[in-house]
Amino acid sequence: MEMRFCLSVSAPTGGRSRLAAACLPLLLAAGACAPAPEAPQSGIAISNVTVIDALSGERPGQTVLIEGDRIQLVGPSDEIFFGVTEQIDGTGKFLIPGLWDMHVHLTFDERFTPTMPEMFIRYGITSVRDTGGLMAKVAPVVERMRAQGAIAPRVFFSGPLLDGVPVVYDGIDAPEIGVPTLDALAARARVTELKAQGVDFIKIYEMVNPEVFAALVEAAAAHDLPIAAHVPLSMRASTAGPHVNSMEHLRNVELDCAGNAETLLQTRLEELAARRDSSGMMLRTALHNLQRMNAVAALDEERCAGVLATLRNTIQVPTARLNALSMFPVFQRNDWAAAVAGIPQALREQWSGPSPSGIPAAVQRDTSYAQYTLDMIARMHEAGVPIGAGTDTPIALAIPGYSLHSELEVLVAAGLTPLEALGAATVQPAKFFSLEDEMGAIAPGMRADLVLLDANPLADIANTRTINRVIARGRLMPVH
Ligand SMILES: [Zn+2]
Repeated sequence: MEMRFCLSVSAPTGGRSRLAAACLPLLLAAGACAPAPEAPQSGIAISNVTVIDALSGERPGQTVLIEGDRIQLVGPSDEIFFGVTEQIDGTGKFLIPGLWDMHVHLTFDERFTPTMPEMFIRYGITSVRDTGGLMAKVAPVVERMRAQGAIAPRVFFSGPLLDGVPVVYDGIDAPEIGVPTLDALAARARVTELKAQGVDFIKIYEMVNPEVFAALVEAAAAHDLPIAAHVPLSMRASTAGPHVNSMEHLRNVELDCAGNAETLLQTRLEELAARRDSSGMMLRTALHNLQRMNAVAALDEERCAGVLATLRNTIQVPTARLNALSMFPVFQRNDWAAAVAGIPQALREQWSGPSPSGIPAAVQRDTSYAQYTLDMIARMHEAGVPIGAGTDTPIALAIPGYSLHSELEVLVAAGLTPLEALGAATVQPAKFFSLEDEMGAIAPGMRADLVLLDANPLADIANTRTINRVIARGRLMPVH
C-alpha cells in the first residue's frame, strides 16, 4: 500500500521550497499529486499540531505524515493534502518524539517483567535501554518485545553487568544480573560471545580492575559496540569516562572531584585488595558509605572542572530521580495512587502507603546526596557534558514509564530547560547508538515513534504526562 499526498506549490516561500525539495522523491514515487479516491489508503496523518523536538524547537500548525515505520513528511498544515487510513486532529495538541528510558532492568524483578513493555508504551516510552540482565532471562523478553505486533518499545540490551571479582549483583545479596570477568583474556572472550548473542552495547560494572576495563573497551570497539559504565571503584571518572559512551548514576564522579581524591582512591584500592572474598554488594556498599559523602564535602572546584572537561563526549545518565528520591518523594505525588493501581498486584501493597517498599523515614529526610546530584547535573550541563534520561526502573519505586516523567522533572529542577530535558530523553539516547539520523527528531525519514500531548511540555515539563496518543514503530498504540 502506498500513501498519497501532495504539497501546494502556489506562492512559494523560502520555507515552502525547502519542504518541496525535501519531499520531491516522495512526490515522484507517488506518481501523482492528488489522491486517487479508489485506491486503498494507508498511513497516519496528524494535522494542525504543534511539533516540538529538541533540535528544531516548537513549530505550530504542522501536519505530520507517517507511512510504515517512517515519518514521510512534516510541513505546514495549509500546504499538505493527503489521503491516509488514520487521521488525527492535532488542534491544540503537541507532538514530541517518542521518549527513551536509557536505564531500565527488564528482568530485575520478574513480577514486573511481563507487564513492563505495555507500561512503557502507555507512558509514551517508545525505546528502552536494558542496562543489565542475564542473557538467559533477558533474551526471551527482548524477543517477545521485538515480535511483530508486540505492544512494546524498541529495546536495546547489554546482557549481564560485566563485573570483576567479587560480583556485586551475584544472586545472593542481590538479584543475579552480573558476571565475573577475571582477566583481559576472559574480557575479550565475553564481549565476543555477547556480540554473537546479539547485544546492542555492553555494560561495565564497578568491580572490574583497570586491566579488565581496558580489555573490555578494546573488545567493544572491535565489535562496534557502545559502552555504558559505572566508573569502576578502582578507577577515576576522568580516566575511565572518556573511554565509554555513557556513565550511569554519577557514580564515583564525586571521588575524582574531591580535593583528597588521591587519598580516597588509595584507601579504596587497599580495601578492594584486602576484601576480595567478601560479598560484592557488601564491599561496594561499605566503600560508598565510607567515602561518598566525604568526597562530596571535599569537592574542589578547579579539580572538578578539569574532570568534567574530560567527559564532554560521555553521556551522563544521572538517574536523578533515584539519587534525589529524598527531595522528590514520588509517592507523595497526587497521581501516585493511580499509577500504583496500574502495577502488578503482587507489588501494589508494597508500593503503597507512607513508607512504600520499606524506604526508611531517615533516608527520606536526608537530602544531602539529592542536593549534590542536582548541583552536579547543573555543573555538568554548564560544562557542556551531555545529559541522558534514565530511571533504573523498577529499582527504588520506579514505575515503568511513569518514572521517566519524574526523571524529566528532576532534570529541569537541576537546571535543564524543558526542551533540553526532552533532548535528554530523545536526542542523547539516539546519539549513544549512533542513530541520530533515524531517531530523536520529528523530520522526514525519521523512525515513526511519536507522542501526542494535550498540553505544552515547554510551558511545564510535567505536561509530558498529558499523553493523548502514542505511535510506536509506526503503529497507533492503545494507551487508555
Ligand atoms: Zn541499573
